[in-house]
Amino acid sequence: MSNAFLNTPIEYLKNVGPQRADVLKKELHIFTYHNLLQHYPFRYVDRTKFYKIKEINADLPYVQLRGKITATEMVGAKRTKRFVATFTDETGRLELVWFQGAKWISEKIKPHLTNEYVIFGKPALFNGKFNIAHPEIELVSDENTVFASALQAVYHSTDKLKGKSLDTKGIAKIMKGLVSLIKNNIPESLSTDIINRFQLLSKEEAVKQIHFPKSPELLKKAEFRLKFEELFFIQLKLLKQKSTREKNYRGFVFSKVGDNFNTFYNHHLPFELTNAQKRVIKEIRLDMGSGKQMNRLLQGDVGSGKTLVALMNMLIALDNSRPEDGIPFQACLMAPTEILANQHFETISTLLKPLNKNVGILTGSTKTKARRLLHEQLQNGEMHILIGTHALLEDEVQFKNIGLIVIDEQHRFGVAQRAKMWNKNSLTPHVLIMSATPIPRTLAMTLYGDLDVSVIDEMPPGRKPIQTVHRFDSNRLRVFEFMREQIAIGRQVYVVYPLIKESEKMDYKDLMDGYESIVRAFPQPQYQVSIVHGQMKADAKEYEMQRFVKAETQIMVATTVIEVGVNVPNASVMIIESAERFGLSQLHQLRGRVGRGAEQSYCILMTSHKLSSDGKLRMDTMCRTNDGFEIADVDLKLRGPGDMSGTQQSGVLDLHIADLAKDAQILHAARNMAIELLSEDTNLEKPENATIAYHFAMMGKERTNWSRIS
Ligand code: ADP
Ligand code: MG
Repeated sequence: MSNAFLNTPIEYLKNVGPQRADVLKKELHIFTYHNLLQHYPFRYVDRTKFYKIKEINADLPYVQLRGKITATEMVGAKRTKRFVATFTDETGRLELVWFQGAKWISEKIKPHLTNEYVIFGKPALFNGKFNIAHPEIELVSDENTVFASALQAVYHSTDKLKGKSLDTKGIAKIMKGLVSLIKNNIPESLSTDIINRFQLLSKEEAVKQIHFPKSPELLKKAEFRLKFEELFFIQLKLLKQKSTREKNYRGFVFSKVGDNFNTFYNHHLPFELTNAQKRVIKEIRLDMGSGKQMNRLLQGDVGSGKTLVALMNMLIALDNSRPEDGIPFQACLMAPTEILANQHFETISTLLKPLNKNVGILTGSTKTKARRLLHEQLQNGEMHILIGTHALLEDEVQFKNIGLIVIDEQHRFGVAQRAKMWNKNSLTPHVLIMSATPIPRTLAMTLYGDLDVSVIDEMPPGRKPIQTVHRFDSNRLRVFEFMREQIAIGRQVYVVYPLIKESEKMDYKDLMDGYESIVRAFPQPQYQVSIVHGQMKADAKEYEMQRFVKAETQIMVATTVIEVGVNVPNASVMIIESAERFGLSQLHQLRGRVGRGAEQSYCILMTSHKLSSDGKLRMDTMCRTNDGFEIADVDLKLRGPGDMSGTQQSGVLDLHIADLAKDAQILHAARNMAIELLSEDTNLEKPENATIAYHFAMMGKERTNWSRIS
């Protein structure tokens, strides 16, 4: 917002000055009046509720009391010097204590027969009696009372700010000074039409009410107004980016479905496609034939069969050629790990054998000679499909005519890499991003608001739902017993250990201890055990992996290396050690490694007896449901969007007031409104949308992080 008032540097505000301004900048990035006004309260205390002294107990957080000061006293000397006031109401008495600022407060507060005070603070039990240290205190008759509003804002602060007396109360004080300056100087950012339609408060009123609400109703309206606005402008931005991109980047037109696709579909499909797979293949095909450049997110739970969908669409790319010179298109698939790239390569080259297509693989461990040949074949067009890791992004990798890029597990790659892929060619190929991390709709709409989305919402037939149980470490022998039973009927077992960067050494030790105890409990030659972890060389990893894939070993001990994509249909048991240390989406991903065949599969979550309530909820959720989207919703509520996988680097979640976990409805309303607005006024040129256009233009000039998304 460009506006003289709002852009006023914060040091000009009464009671701020250079020193406080300095900490505000460093600690909270508050540089201007506008920034301070956007430092929204994170909760409110209801100041309409008064307690009586006799109601006080140790469980109460903060209480508000009304009463008189009947005695005061300065106690102790030097370091222990403190000011003690006796506070009484008709039900009892308690002590108020000040250690800091004792002298100042002793001058302010005098015992008085009639003067009434309101105090607010956290009671603590001391020598069998309750007292309150450093309460907020105010004379009831005081005109200027900060308690004027019934709902009092509580602000985030930091130790450094508190050092400058900018705790929540201190922030409220300077905020009050600032809000008192607001008089027709906060410009409206939305159109009259939108304000009327949603019965929104004006921007100015909303800003005042959010900090000093006059009533719960007004607070609600202020919150709605500000959340709506925030989400509306983000959606507007994403939608505009999308339409600009669609205008500027013409896509290749894949107009036909030809021999490659048809031969495969009619003769070599390993199984009947699910209806969801058929629908999604069609969505993608139509998009690639539409003339615009496709940017599509393909969401489907683990095991829903995304690989086949990708393959069939790559065949469509191969079926088409560039109109100018008739050169056929190539396709590539990028995976996040070498193991996964190898697995995709195996699957796809096996499936395509009858079609006589040239499928290549490029990873970090591809040898120089093979690499050179690959580069050559990519450039002369002999290579049809290239599969690999982020090694595909290296500059030497140049295609003759790349038409489709498939990225598996998008969240592991940053958006920057997505962009880099695009620039491999003068014309922009179609991009299909596959994600098995079910993202709640609200998050997808914000995070990927500039992408189209396809969802595979159906599992291949014949899968039995995985049975999940939670067991404590003390039951390990029973769990070993169960493993033996499963191995006896021919199944294989995963045992997964957490590996977290910060405690890598310890985790590594846990893994090795675990491996040893398993080898002891499952001795050779009857049992064979594989182990795979991040510190192993790629070929050693691959070797161990292959032994398990070929069922030469029955047990695979691993860290989360196996999290993504590994496909061993005969593995029917997943044991997750220290399961409490994993987030929900990761647990769900790991569980997805089993249940890939026709056999009944099991997931056993091992934890210690010490479980936080969050931890308990995570285990219960996993045991209750197999539905990835339901799990993602719980995850979002538990952790908030900032911790969801894939969101960290996006910056899109740098929201001031909206909360994606709670504000799904507002988000929908805001998005629909943005879509409607742009459909009627694509360039925001109509006079009635001038305020929106102005605000939108200014927004780009601000230091907003979420503009990083594209
Ligand atoms: P993901 O979506 O997790 O990448 P995959 O593509 O690896 O899933 O598929 C999981 C398993 O399901 C594979 O073994 C695959 O061969 C099998 N599969 C895929 N589609 C079908 C289908 N329509 N019918 C039966 N099995 C299928
Ligand atoms: Mg996959």
